[in-house]
Amino acid sequence: MNTSIYLHIPFCTHRCAYCDFNTYAGQEDSIPAYVDALLHEINFIKQQTTQLSNHLTTQTIFFGGGTPSLLSGPQIGSILDALRGAFTFSPDLEVTLEANPGTTSLEKLQHYRAAGINRLSFGVQSANSEELHMLERAHDFFDVIQSVKWARQAGFDNLNLDLIYALPEQTLATWQSSVRRVVDLGPEHISAYALTLEHGTPFGRWTAKGLLPVSDADLAADMYEWLSEFLESHGFVQYEISNWAKLKDESGKMKAEENSSFSFHPSSFACRHNLQYWRGLPYLGLGAGAHGYAGGMRYSNVLRIKTYIERLASDQSSVTSDQSPVSSLQFPLTPAVVNQHRQSEQDEMGEFMMTGLRLTQEGVSDKVFESRFGNKILDVYEKSVEKLFEQGLLEWTGEHLHLTRRGRLLGNQVFMHFV
Ligand code: SF4
Repeated sequence: MNTSIYLHIPFCTHRCAYCDFNTYAGQEDSIPAYVDALLHEINFIKQQTTQLSNHLTTQTIFFGGGTPSLLSGPQIGSILDALRGAFTFSPDLEVTLEANPGTTSLEKLQHYRAAGINRLSFGVQSANSEELHMLERAHDFFDVIQSVKWARQAGFDNLNLDLIYALPEQTLATWQSSVRRVVDLGPEHISAYALTLEHGTPFGRWTAKGLLPVSDADLAADMYEWLSEFLESHGFVQYEISNWAKLKDESGKMKAEENSSFSFHPSSFACRHNLQYWRGLPYLGLGAGAHGYAGGMRYSNVLRIKTYIERLASDQSSVTSDQSPVSSLQFPLTPAVVNQHRQSEQDEMGEFMMTGLRLTQEGVSDKVFESRFGNKILDVYEKSVEKLFEQGLLEWTGEHLHLTRRGRLLGNQVFMHFV
């Protein structure tokens, strides 16, 4: 089976005020034990798949968090060595590590590169010091400049920089300034997500009490549209609602200017790991709170760091399952798994449409949909597609159904039709 691998690193030096990820501040003392537990989880998969003669091949690996860059070079190296022993690595393996500016050094990045990391994703969020302060980020923009410089010196030629827009009190001018400064750094890839006010976070509470203003929806739309046009005029091609990438030339280097269609272009800096999710393909999730998906099943690991470590140490498992884990999933559920469920075909189709339509150019292929579900898209969703077509939110390019430019702004309104 071909799969992607996600590893969750749930440690942060500080909890940002808007964050609702499964991550913990002040538990860095547990990092060595956590890395050991990850090695056990990988080894568990290796033993089970060897018994089944079901060797797994992987094309992408993603260290996400949390703050994976809190792990040392040797710790990341030991995890990659263990994965190398348990999986067949494809020759063009993409290995991404999320890093926070301010937690890196040239030496650490050199270690990562030598260990096999070949793509870095930096959480920049803003280039404006007041906005970074409000978000309670631990870095300033100078840390970003240093991190990018060190990454290049360490030999990384595939960098993503993450941004957040629609912040309270953010203006179009401060947003434009952040984007310009980030583009000036010459990344191969940019992600930009609108801030979501999550229940249970300080931001969620402050806005609910009226202490923090909620960003204006029209202003957020203006920021998004300006960003799209600006990035496209600077050689980026949008391939997903919130993601833009440069194209590579024949030697694999970045093209200076490129406005040609990105669709299905094999030679781009699009994040191949995330494409696996959006195309509805299988992935394994390892680590505390990680999610996995394969063979029509979804599963998730225990959330808390301490419990995750204990489960891997004692080999205990209380998976709720209606199926034999190994035979139904084509890969073994590890002792860290606490939930699994088989998706109904209706759920599978709905999720396939929702994630596929996030791909702004590729969209959902009618042929792929039919080969997977035995029906064409219109056999299942004729009324919804016609309605969204009439509203100017969806369009066909050949046999690919995708969002229009207007549809990109109203993605949630479109996705509701497939839930
Ligand atoms: S650094 Fe990222 S994962 Fe950590 S608390 Fe901040 S937003 Fe959350």
